[in-house]
Amino acid sequence: MSAAQRIAQLRTEIERYSHAYYVLDAPVIPDAEYDKLFRELQELEARHPELLTADSPTQRVGGKVLEGFTPVRHAVPMLSIRTETDTESSGAANFDTRVRNALNATGEIEYLCELKFDGLAINLRYERGVLVQAATRGDGETGEDVTQNIRTIHCIPLHLKQCAANVLEVRGEVYMSRRDFNRYNEKQRELGMPTLVNPRNGAAGSIRQLDPALAAKRPLSFFAYGLGDVQGWQLPATHSGILDALASFGLPVCGERAVVRGAGALAEFHRGIAGKRDALPFDIDGVVYKVNSLELQAELGFVSREPRWAVAHKFPAEEQLTVVRDIEVQVGRTGKLTPVAKLEPVFVGGTTVSNATLHNEGEIRRKDVHIGDTVIVRRAGDVIPEVVGVLAERRPAGAKPFVMPTQCPVCGSHVVREEGEADARCTGGLFCAAQRKQAILHFAGRRAMDIEGLGDKLVDQLVDENIIRSLADLYDQNIVNLQTLAGLARMAEKSAQNIVDALEKSKHTTLNRFLFALGIRHVGETTAKDLARHFGNLDAVMQAGADRLLAVPDVGPVVAQSIVDFFGESHNREVVQQLRILGVRWEEHEGTGTQALPLTGKTFVLTGTLASMSRDEAKSRLEGLGAKVAGSVSKKTDYVVAGEEAGSKLIRAQELNVPVWNEAELILQLRECEKS
Ligand code: NAD
Repeated sequence: MSAAQRIAQLRTEIERYSHAYYVLDAPVIPDAEYDKLFRELQELEARHPELLTADSPTQRVGGKVLEGFTPVRHAVPMLSIRTETDTESSGAANFDTRVRNALNATGEIEYLCELKFDGLAINLRYERGVLVQAATRGDGETGEDVTQNIRTIHCIPLHLKQCAANVLEVRGEVYMSRRDFNRYNEKQRELGMPTLVNPRNGAAGSIRQLDPALAAKRPLSFFAYGLGDVQGWQLPATHSGILDALASFGLPVCGERAVVRGAGALAEFHRGIAGKRDALPFDIDGVVYKVNSLELQAELGFVSREPRWAVAHKFPAEEQLTVVRDIEVQVGRTGKLTPVAKLEPVFVGGTTVSNATLHNEGEIRRKDVHIGDTVIVRRAGDVIPEVVGVLAERRPAGAKPFVMPTQCPVCGSHVVREEGEADARCTGGLFCAAQRKQAILHFAGRRAMDIEGLGDKLVDQLVDENIIRSLADLYDQNIVNLQTLAGLARMAEKSAQNIVDALEKSKHTTLNRFLFALGIRHVGETTAKDLARHFGNLDAVMQAGADRLLAVPDVGPVVAQSIVDFFGESHNREVVQQLRILGVRWEEHEGTGTQALPLTGKTFVLTGTLASMSRDEAKSRLEGLGAKVAGSVSKKTDYVVAGEEAGSKLIRAQELNVPVWNEAELILQLRECEKS
């Protein structure tokens, strides 16, 4: 194939993928694949400049305006950013070299490093401090008017504080946090409805649709990272100065930013963020380096669709293509059967992935996954990898559809799928070795009985060799002792002794941990705490009927029934009885009943770093006093506790006039309340 032919072919393909991505918000291939084609086209055009045309996708930004939206002509074009796909430190060094050469600089350049948020670029136009218009990037020259939808995003201020500019256009990224994305998808899955492919698409799809009521249902957030048109405001001298000013106007600006000097520091920022990437509450696909001085930015200028003074330095992609070799079914703690795709191993989100969840049968049907298909796998944050889509055009002849087994693959019991339920379940209960293993692992977990060292390998052996049949067997010294443990494969005497010690230590626990450890369906950690506080002792919980359980805050009919059913089973009561006989104990009291604790009914939000205690500790002390600790600030928040370097939550609290406590005040109030 000649270069001209390949170029033509690449352009057609890229146009098709761009249209799906930018216009329809429904990408058909992962970004990494798209980037590969895009780079190939860029390289071919660089080698054959005579073949470069103005309508090549390499010369354009984004997509077209969707019909139904009013077009908005941008006062200042919204551009793209050049991408360094080389994820090594040379990516940073190349950029720094280009900048220094262009400026003929001898010394180090000052840069601002930011995150590259994976969402949708938006231009917010404020006139005399009031939000008057919001527009998408579109093709860079003309975007779409999405003001109504943007107004539904709580963290975008409708009025700026202390901003006297006649016109201030703020540019930034609308995104969906991972937690909101996962919650949304979980709910959709329960309802048997289509899920979002990734948070980026969730954000873009919500903003670019015509019904603001639908947009309001999808929880979105925003970070500001730059400016468009500005009139009547004296610009600061640096980009970091602009971001500080935007934050002071009440706009959310991400705290993960740094002013640094030289290429080494750029690479260091890249490395540091790569290490934190999984723990961030939102998706990023890299970092962005920007020359900090606005004067130098002006000197550097632009090349076609990109500024010369900024570059995006990528991380390994969180979505990749691979092939489904097989689909297996795993059995969980509550008997839930989860189909899992066995994949051709693929490097995604920083690790090699060979299994990915397909959630349930309905999801497989909706996504139409066959064995043999080429699929998009996503691994982002600490969420387990999942198959998010299929490349239908690559389906080989003979690809097989998946059939849910009618018998449990582990114990052979019947599989049922109750009406209205998305999940199929094994009916074997603790007779099923898979459920037993999961139940033991949950029981031993850090937030449950906290039996250190009792991990999945050991539990596999204990169950497979039929040593443990019930949870209580763990504490029965005739069954689990130094000898039996040391007799297991790959178990040294020292480790066996550690397990024996850990078992002994775990016997002294708390009622809420014990209740959580039992693995009652729908009883998570918070419910277990509520139950323990309300009833004070186990017998009261076991004897409570549904009506008394319903008096516990946040316990609804489904949870209450599940607790009644659990303790209604004689074998569950026996296990509890045996565990007590074997020495598992906790402190009991009369319970608070409906009597309120000092902070009952109050909702707190914690932000920033506290010097004298961890956030977890502050949370559990507040909860111990009856308070609820929420993740985001809303009108329902009663107090925000702000430590050092508090960010957007503090700003939000101030906007909503929510009282803010500093650390000293928190300590004082905790002491007062704990005394009473
Ligand atoms: P870009 O890579 O050119 O970068 C510019 C965009 O980065 C801005 O518009 C802004 O939205 C965003 N951004 C995030 N954080 C920023 C920050 N701190 N400062 C400035 N900008 C920031 O983006 P693009 O042109 O929208 O698209 C390229 C990306 O889209 C690539 O990652 C590509 O893989 C993907 N894409 C994928 C497909 C597909 O089919 N999967 C198709 C087209 C494009």
